[in-house]
Amino acid sequence: MTQFYADLVQINDPPHFLTKFQILTNDILPFDYHIGKEGYGIVDSGVSGIDAAEEYHMIKIIERDIPSDRGRFSGNPEPIRNSTELKFVAPCDSAGGVAGGDIRISAFGDWKCMRCDDISHVPVTGGKIVKPFECFSDTCGRKGPFTPMFPEHLVKPIWRLPLAPIESSSLEVYNDVYNFCKEYLVVREEEYHIMTLWIMASWLVDDFQTCPYLCAIAPKSSGKTQMLNVLNELAYRAVLTISVTPASLFRAIELWHITLLIDEAEFQVKQETESGQALYGCLNGGYKRGSYAIRTEGNDNNRIPTTYEVFGFKAIATTRLFHPTLESRSIIINMAQGMPDKILIDEGRAGVIRSKLLFWRFETLGKLPLIFPKSNNGRLIEMFIPLFTIAQIFKGGEGIKKQISYEDLEGILIDKIEDMESGRKEEEHESDEAKIVGAINNLSIIVPGDRRQDLDKDTVNIKDIVEYLGWVDGSTSSTDAMKTYQKVGRLLKIMGIKTHHTKKGKVVEYLEPDVREVILKLSRRFG
Ligand SMILES: [Zn+2]
Repeated sequence: MTQFYADLVQINDPPHFLTKFQILTNDILPFDYHIGKEGYGIVDSGVSGIDAAEEYHMIKIIERDIPSDRGRFSGNPEPIRNSTELKFVAPCDSAGGVAGGDIRISAFGDWKCMRCDDISHVPVTGGKIVKPFECFSDTCGRKGPFTPMFPEHLVKPIWRLPLAPIESSSLEVYNDVYNFCKEYLVVREEEYHIMTLWIMASWLVDDFQTCPYLCAIAPKSSGKTQMLNVLNELAYRAVLTISVTPASLFRAIELWHITLLIDEAEFQVKQETESGQALYGCLNGGYKRGSYAIRTEGNDNNRIPTTYEVFGFKAIATTRLFHPTLESRSIIINMAQGMPDKILIDEGRAGVIRSKLLFWRFETLGKLPLIFPKSNNGRLIEMFIPLFTIAQIFKGGEGIKKQISYEDLEGILIDKIEDMESGRKEEEHESDEAKIVGAINNLSIIVPGDRRQDLDKDTVNIKDIVEYLGWVDGSTSSTDAMKTYQKVGRLLKIMGIKTHHTKKGKVVEYLEPDVREVILKLSRRFG
């Protein structure tokens, strides 16, 4: 990166498309531009000479036709780790004076002198805040008073920090989080999507009034701690209970809106111990904004009940559901037996994803309209609002390659709600995906006397899969049968098993090399 010289010119009332470029020269550029993020320029596409400038290696065009939405960034300051230094990043006015037009990295420790308005800087070391002894200005030098120009409550963050924000689209962020979960965890296919939505929703916690808990249930040593490890890397301000004392737990949630992760919850959450009581209080009131936990503080002679708001995303790992709040407020994730592709977490990669999530938070906070799921169950509607709200990033945007369609994602969430409504306990049903893959494997073996429709065609019909599994029989209504076919079609799609339309309905061409490979891989995964 080299320096660049030119007058800053605000593009007034810009046309709808801008071009972002990197400046490679010390020469004066032949057109008006203004500074976007550090090291970049943004120029109106209508300005002549951009292509010429690129041809003469004065600039490198990074992106064309960026919509010029004003007030692009929102939200409060966030702490980041910049190399080894603790800094903070916050939306601020861009060069043109557009509110929230830019996000800027600043150091902790700037103090404004109330007498001369000069800024004095005293570095924060080891989380210690020190006011300047006297104003650093030569012409002032008075002993303040000073006001901090930095968020004091963020100087001792207890969660894994992002690095500087990395620009990324919603769908890119989704992909990164989804792939990360998939590599480190073995859960049902649709649960990867649910976890991804949950993690992204946690970064917009300020936008929601309610949130669902995520609850991993599994026998001992079966990867539920690993789920918390993944969330600890990627969820917003995630904190494992072991790293926060019971005395500071309520304060940490209220002050920082941390995402609380409770491992071995069946042992930790109990009324007999101080920490157990604190966690109990957090779970009881933590799913809804405006509900409080009471904690008695002070010494024996002077005990004062204090209320704390404990709203925030929470995830729990346990061997069993031990409390009704958990059952009614949690999305249950069943940790499947099986080895994930990777176990040791790549911290560097997790840090990059956090940095993308941070950028996405600044860009998205307060902008997504809340989506209310269709359900008669008010409690479940509340719970699922954050996940449906994030899912809308898949709406529209024709032509963009997507991990999953909005309709399929909506289907996954509605299935989950219906499961919970019908009280169908997750552990009771073996993964539907595993059953479907098993059915395809069995149906592709031809035995004498078999009377299925497509025996001569190297295909398995969805209708045959559904009948084989006994999900539809003579007594099933045609509406229910249709729903079941659609559900199987959707599950095949999200597992990556291609289907084709034929006169006899949708079929899986299991001998097609691509399809075969996916089925083999899944068969190994499901064991
Ligand atoms: Zn001063």
